Amino acid sequence: MSGHLYVVAAPSGAGKTTLVRLLLERQADIQLSISNTTRSPRPGEQNGREYHFTTVDDFRGMISRGEFLEWAEVHGNFYGTSKKWIADRLAEGRDVLLEIDWQGAQQVRKLFPEAIGIFILPPSMAELERRLTGRGTDAAEVIARRLAAAQAEMRHVGEFDYVIINNQLEEALADLLAVVRASRLRQAAQAARHAELFTRLI
Ligand code: ADP
Ligand code: 5GP
Repeated sequence: MSGHLYVVAAPSGAGKTTLVRLLLERQADIQLSISNTTRSPRPGEQNGREYHFTTVDDFRGMISRGEFLEWAEVHGNFYGTSKKWIADRLAEGRDVLLEIDWQGAQQVRKLFPEAIGIFILPPSMAELERRLTGRGTDAAEVIARRLAAAQAEMRHVGEFDYVIINNQLEEALADLLAVVRASRLRQAAQAARHAELFTRLI
């Protein structure tokens, strides 16, 4: 049985990482894909935990060997998802979550049309700026570049199945949990999970 594939995207600072971390605390059976990136680690980030931090040369090598399910250049750095890791987890029937940008989401959708796309919006541009600044992990010019890109990124919201507005964190988390719960109640998923019951009843 193949697991669900969740694709979560948002403009930088909308709270995607925070929400996904809280989701995974509640739903430990969802596996988070750790992307490769050429970006430098932020203070507190560990290689292999937030990302696999790689050089541009290594990243290009992985592209040429076809090791990425998808990859994209985002805010001047390369980011990519390992093809093999995802295929292995889905084949085991596990649910997998990708935290990637809209370009990566487009590529994933082509390969896995059944992937569940979730877009997270901030409650306002002013709040997005407050969060990017308040996070305290990025230089002023990095924040400016991310804010300038946010509007163009948010124009892709229509390509996603679900939209969560991250105003109050608890409410946004409840929304995210609701999406996961609903996806697991879809007929095909229920028929696979409760095969014996279906056979007995129907
Ligand atoms: P992203 O992964 O989308 O770039 P983060 O999860 O790093 O964003 O969140 C950016 C900042 O905003 C962090 O400092 C985080 O603690 C804060 N944050 C996230 N969600 C909320 C919320 N609902 N209300 C207030 N602050 C939030
Ligand atoms: P950050 O540098 O803030 O961690 O991430 C910047 C952007 O890159 C975010 O929009 C994030 O979702 C995206 N991103 C992270 N990993 C990947 C990936 O593997 N592929 C793609 N396409 N985007 C990614």
